[in-house]
Amino acid sequence: MTFKELGLKQEVLDAVASLGFVDPSPIQQEAIPQLLETERDLVGLAQTGTGKTAAFGLPMVNQVDFSSKTTQGLVICPTRELCIQISKDFQQFSRNFRGANIVPVYGGASIDTQVRQLNRGAQIVVATPGRLMDMIKRKRVDLSQVSYVALDEADEMLNMGFKEDIDAILENTPNDKQTWLFSATMPKEVVRIAKNYMDNPIEITVGTKNAASKNIEHHFYKVNDRDRFHGLKRIIDFEPNIYGVIFCRTRRETSEVADKLIKSNYSAEPLHGDLSQAQRDRVMKAFRNKDIQLLVATDVAARGIDVDDITHVINYNLPDEIESYTHRSGRTARAGKKGTSILLLNTRESNKLRFVEKIINSKIDQKKFPTGKDICEKQLMQLIDKVVEVEVKEEQIAPYLSAVDEKLKEFSKEEIITKFVSAEFNRFLSYYENARDINDDSRGGSDRGRGNERRRGDRERGGRDRDRGRDRKPRSDRRERRGDKDNGGFNRNVEGESTTLFLNVGEKDFSDKGHLIRVLCQEGGVAGKNLGKIRMMDNFSFVDVAPKIAGKLLKGINGVEIEGGRKMRAEVSNQ
Ligand code: AMP
Repeated sequence: MTFKELGLKQEVLDAVASLGFVDPSPIQQEAIPQLLETERDLVGLAQTGTGKTAAFGLPMVNQVDFSSKTTQGLVICPTRELCIQISKDFQQFSRNFRGANIVPVYGGASIDTQVRQLNRGAQIVVATPGRLMDMIKRKRVDLSQVSYVALDEADEMLNMGFKEDIDAILENTPNDKQTWLFSATMPKEVVRIAKNYMDNPIEITVGTKNAASKNIEHHFYKVNDRDRFHGLKRIIDFEPNIYGVIFCRTRRETSEVADKLIKSNYSAEPLHGDLSQAQRDRVMKAFRNKDIQLLVATDVAARGIDVDDITHVINYNLPDEIESYTHRSGRTARAGKKGTSILLLNTRESNKLRFVEKIINSKIDQKKFPTGKDICEKQLMQLIDKVVEVEVKEEQIAPYLSAVDEKLKEFSKEEIITKFVSAEFNRFLSYYENARDINDDSRGGSDRGRGNERRRGDRERGGRDRDRGRDRKPRSDRRERRGDKDNGGFNRNVEGESTTLFLNVGEKDFSDKGHLIRVLCQEGGVAGKNLGKIRMMDNFSFVDVAPKIAGKLLKGINGVEIEGGRKMRAEVSNQ
């Protein structure tokens, strides 16, 4: 079926064509003709990413009289982000109608500006419930002539506590309007709204219960809590082109996971309620522009994230409300694309797996974490692909090449390739060297076998991971260290007494403690086990070391030139 066959006006068809839509999506094929031809209400069970905005937007724009200035269409949606997105879409849909004025009305922005825009005569208002109620109370919006009301993501609005507002808004609209309600799930409260405010509605469900989920592959990994972050990193490292959202349960966990990722050099940012609106906007803009690869978010902050092309949704933990899994996974596989939703589960949580499976009406496959070798192979191939595809700027690079040739002339082609690959790749190789099996498969392997793995695993370490060493101590030691907040997850125990050294280098000079440790070990010729607690400030640091190596270390590192040409200076601290 084509858009033309759906019965839309030429102005709308032209707008659709200029958006690059070729064929209507299934929900558009079902909804549009019915909304154009009948005056009945409609309930649509559909997820975000299925083309549902156009499914109600095109018929609404098609039927509104843009030569009049009265408000005839109203869209209510849960979040500011979604409100802005929908109004932008509607502005596109109505671009060929003179005088069209679509006004978004949402909290957290100047109410006066929005009032001015409404005063110009908005034929369609797209609003979040709280701000719209405010406008109604102040008599700044007139809904008495509204013919079409669309409630988008109705379940989300109820989850967010907008029940009373929605009731009050609907009471303020005429009885003979048409109401179109869209929801990804149908909890009792949504059914109640449909019953109370709708008259024998047409019901449409796109495909099966969860249409979008057809394009989503659901996987789960079993992992011990202490390895959850390692597990996350393995998944990310195995998908070098990942563009994903990592869901955490709390703001604190969100910050912690994002911090750890950022410190390990991943392109990630947190998104949660402790950030100001301006900060959240900045993060969302960067994510949308693909300036960042990974968004670490709480459920609430991630509501209304309508970003196409998200390849993966990673559930760092199960959501508190299992139903939210649908909303989380619905952030991927939008607009007919494919996506993967991943769950990290510990043994306790795996009991809840069947509830999730029930909700998405599909089985979730267990996957094994990739091994260090798998990851290295994948990353190496990615690096080689990058080399093959890189754009060579011949003219700009030419002046430097003779000096490079001179330096490399003693090496064969094979040697040069090996050296270039190693220069880029050694960090990765050493990180995953000796990587252990972190799959927590309680049914697989004997205890003895797992014990061995764990012992071997004690050697999983690497330059990108500030957490290394965390699991290296026996349980009793771990308990002792628990209260120590100062270690940034990088505490080491130096046997017996320790000597504190002052260093004139800090976070400005070294990306993290791991980096500083490597330099100290290499330049001082000492083993890492002799280094203890490290406190890094911007410009200087204190490092506890075993007294027996203090002299050797000082001798080795004093005067070493660091990046930028500055010389490192170290002395015993009398702090
Ligand atoms: P929605 O479910 O409304 O958030 O739409 C998801 C994405 O699909 C948006 O980027 C739309 O622009 C896009 N889209 C909607 N309908 C179509 C269509 N018929 N053909 C191609 N893309 C579409």
